[in-house]
Amino acid sequence: MKVVILGAGFGGLEIATCLSEALGPAVDVTLIDQNDSFVLGFAKLDAMFGRTAPVQIHLPYSRIAKPGVTFRQERITAIDPAARRVTTDRGTYDADVLVVALGADYDVAATPGLAAGGHEFYSVAGAVALRDLLPTFRGGIVVVGVMTPQYKCPPAPSETAMMMHDYLTSRGIRDRCRIVMTTPLPSPLPVSKAAGDGILARFAELKIECIVGAATTRVDPDTHTLRLSTGEAVRYDLLLAVPVHVAPKVVLESGLAEGGWIPVDKKTLKTRFPDVYAVGDVTSVGTPRAGIFSEGAGKVVAAQIIARHRGGGETAPYQGDGRCYIEFGKEQVAEIYVNFLGGPKPTSDFKGPTAEGVADKRRFGASRAARWFGM
Ligand SMILES: Cc1cc2nc3c(=O)[nH]c(=O)nc-3n(C[C@H](O)[C@H](O)[C@H](O)COP(=O)(O)OP(=O)(O)OC[C@H]3O[C@@H](n4cnc5c(N)ncnc54)[C@H](O)[C@@H]3O)c2cc1C
Repeated sequence: MKVVILGAGFGGLEIATCLSEALGPAVDVTLIDQNDSFVLGFAKLDAMFGRTAPVQIHLPYSRIAKPGVTFRQERITAIDPAARRVTTDRGTYDADVLVVALGADYDVAATPGLAAGGHEFYSVAGAVALRDLLPTFRGGIVVVGVMTPQYKCPPAPSETAMMMHDYLTSRGIRDRCRIVMTTPLPSPLPVSKAAGDGILARFAELKIECIVGAATTRVDPDTHTLRLSTGEAVRYDLLLAVPVHVAPKVVLESGLAEGGWIPVDKKTLKTRFPDVYAVGDVTSVGTPRAGIFSEGAGKVVAAQIIARHRGGGETAPYQGDGRCYIEFGKEQVAEIYVNFLGGPKPTSDFKGPTAEGVADKRRFGASRAARWFGM
């Protein structure tokens, strides 16, 4: 059976790993990504704040050594889901089973004025550029602005604000700065009242201001001002922005997407095309966009492919659950477990910030590097 996986992020890497573990050389898996390496989402924040050298955050795909799996560094230019045919800048692939795990791209231009007036920090390039810029900042108003309600890793902007507090404190200029976060969401983390309240309590302690329920309508680069849907105008000296997210162009052109994202069966991650699955940020499955959910969806798809290869059998439905670590400043990390699809309503369990959480988060990253890259 030929399995072609598009995208070697959290979802694609997990599927390839599960298939190789279960079936070894009996399966023919081609894993395609345009990049030469993978970067864990939170490692971008570590690079931005100078905690880790940029070169250390890259996990090279050349390290993938898994029976049955071939990695190809190629750019996907077209997907024909009906024929399960994929075209790249180097060739064409036909699949018995096709999995789309291409993640989400950013559309900075969707927010008028942002490109000229602010800095996105969600891409590796954006985070690394800020790493060089931050040391030149001498004080003033730092705004962490969320431009869209649908963005990767819901706690990441709050983490950024709290890490900014630590960073400015370490430079001895915190008392010359204000930190403001703006978000269109009603709370810093609406899925859990305990987590949202916990973040707001820490914000109060660290004197971080938070404006909720406020979409950014435009950025005015000349006056260094964010215009909000509430009518407020927020002045800034440094704007760190979470840009509008979009599905990759090749997905939008493939006929797989509806309303901007790929709809899937919530239990199986099947698309409306036979033997074509989609997982992770590129879908509208109903979980937030976060690596832990893409990984969980990947396990569910892999289980179905393995069962099919072995001649059938029941597999467990997708639960949409996962555990995330939240940087809380002051060298402490909190933890949240959320289950979105296992019951009638999402459930969550929040564990407040601790110093031990730092080690737990480190283990989370290290376990992925070991499992996927043998590092
Ligand atoms: C600052 C920040 C912090 C984060 N922190 C966390 C965290 O603590 N925990 C957590 O779970 N998540 C976190 N995330 C979110 C997480 O990184 C993403 O949600 C996750 O990577 C999504 O996995 P995915 O497999 O769906 O897509 P991705 O991991 O984005 O993988 C998609 C892959 O597809 C490839 N691709 C796209 N288009 C093409 C093409 N045309 N041709 C070839 N290849 C292509 C890309 O190169 C990419 O490697 C964070 C994100 C950010 C930005």
